[in-house]
Order: sequence, then C-alpha cells, then structure tokens
Amino acid sequence: MTRTALVTGGTRGIGAAIARALRDSGHQVIATYQGNDEAAAAFTRDTDIPARKWDVSDFAACQQGVADVVETYGSVDVLVNNAGITRDATLHKMEEADWNAVITTNLNSAFNMTRAVINGMREAGFGRIISIASINGQKGQMGQANYAAAKAGLIGFTKSVAQENARRGVTANVVSPGYISTEMVAAVPENVLEKIVGQIPVNRLGEAEEVGQAVAYLASDGAGFVTGSTLSINGGQWMA
Ligand code: NDP
Repeated sequence: MTRTALVTGGTRGIGAAIARALRDSGHQVIATYQGNDEAAAAFTRDTDIPARKWDVSDFAACQQGVADVVETYGSVDVLVNNAGITRDATLHKMEEADWNAVITTNLNSAFNMTRAVINGMREAGFGRIISIASINGQKGQMGQANYAAAKAGLIGFTKSVAQENARRGVTANVVSPGYISTEMVAAVPENVLEKIVGQIPVNRLGEAEEVGQAVAYLASDGAGFVTGSTLSINGGQWMA
C-alpha cells in the first residue's frame, strides 16, 4: 500500500529534500507552495512530484487544499509542516506585521494543516505529523523573537497532538534543524559563515538531505514508538 505524504513548502530548499526523501522511501508525495510558480514547475519537472498552491496561513485554504488532495489520492497519511518564513528584527524595532506574518505562517499553519488531516488519520488508525522547527526555537536568537516563538510553539503543539492521538496510531514529532546549507545560508558573507561553522562541533553546515532522511525515518513504520519528540539535526551546536 502506497502512503500519501503532503509536504508544505515542499518545492524548494529543505522541503524539496524532504519531499524527495519521502518519495524515495515509497510514498506518493505532494508538495505545496505559496507563490513561486517557476520554482514549483522546475521542481515537478525534475522530480515528477506534483505541486499544489495555497497559503498555509489561511485556515479555509488549508481545509480546501487537503480536501482536494484527499479526493485525488484517497488520504493524507503523512503531513510535514515545513513551510516557514523569517522577518528578522530586534524586538524594540519589530513591526506588528513582522510578528504576525511569522506567527501565522510558521505556527498557525501547523494548526490549520494538522486540523485538516487529523480526523482522517484518526479514522484510518495511522498517521505521521512531522513539524520542522529550528535550533533558534530551542535556544532563542537575537533578532528572531517572532521566529523563535513560533518554532518553540511548534514543540508544545506537537507534544499535545502526540498525547491526544497516540492511541489512534498517529504520531507527532518535531525535526529541529540547525544551520543547513540552503540558498538562505549561501547568501551569508563568507567571514560570518566561518564564525557560524566555528560554533558547530561537527565543523560544517548540515545538508538538506540530512533533514530529509530524518523525516523519512519519523514517517516510517519503524518509528511507531517515537512520538512527542524533538529530533535535533544541528551538528551538536545545541544539545538541550
Ligand atoms: P525556503 O525559503 O527555501 O522555502 C520555503 C518554502 O515554503 C517554499 O516552498 C515557499 O513557497 C513555502 N512557503 C512559504 N510561505 C508559505 C505560505 N504562507 N504558504 C505556503 N507555502 C509557503 O525555506 P527553507 O528550506 O530555508 O526552510 C524550510 C523550513 O526549515 C522552514 O520552516 C524553516 O524555518 C526551517 N529551517 C530552515 C533552516 C535553514 O538553515 N534554512 C534552519 C532551521 C529551520 P514559495 O516557493 O511559493 O515561496
């Protein structure tokens, strides 16, 4: 039986690596995105993974999007809450719009999407909900009060969902990446990057594929006893 996996923000960066890893582990994968049609088309061309477009911060759009996916593919067995943005500023300069955009896109989205799939998973007696947080949600980060709050919120959200649904065969876990080699990190000046790498015991940046492998594990049958956990993928930079 082929399971269906829905990866939000799955057309670029870490999400695309997660989508590929889930495809390679035998899932029917659907990736979602918000607005970059060009990147989504290139991703689908390269991978044969279909992409669907809706805003994960919009509750009604998530209900509709999931209903459409279920109509086409029968179910959503694995949900990866990956879509996320940053709007960095120190708190004393942060605009209300920057706070709201990051909380709605990074945290409300997990409610919107999980709420849309949870009853189907409970009825099926199987489900995997995997949310992508960040090292900065665990340790805090200057200039990222909004982002750290949203990512820390995902961890509390996940522990509650894990408790509520454990008896129905539905697990909920967080994957918390540290510094991963993506377009965003590639834009960081070389001298700053050297300092960052100096703080990572493994002495390199992580690869998006390494996050993808972790998600594929948590989605697998073998991870059925893992729920409510946070798996850090940060090269040893933060061990709490
Ligand atoms: P990217 O910016 O490369 O990709 C973001 C993806 O999310 C895109 O597909 C984008 O769609 C989609 N997206 C953004 N906003 C929305 C929205 N409102 N509705 C639907 N889709 C949306 O992100 P990264 O790969 O860098 O990050 C992925 C996740 O990993 C994020 O949650 C991030 O916080 C987390 N993370 C990243 C780290 C890193 O080093 N990069 C480190 C730790 C955590 P579109 O293409 O249309 O814009």
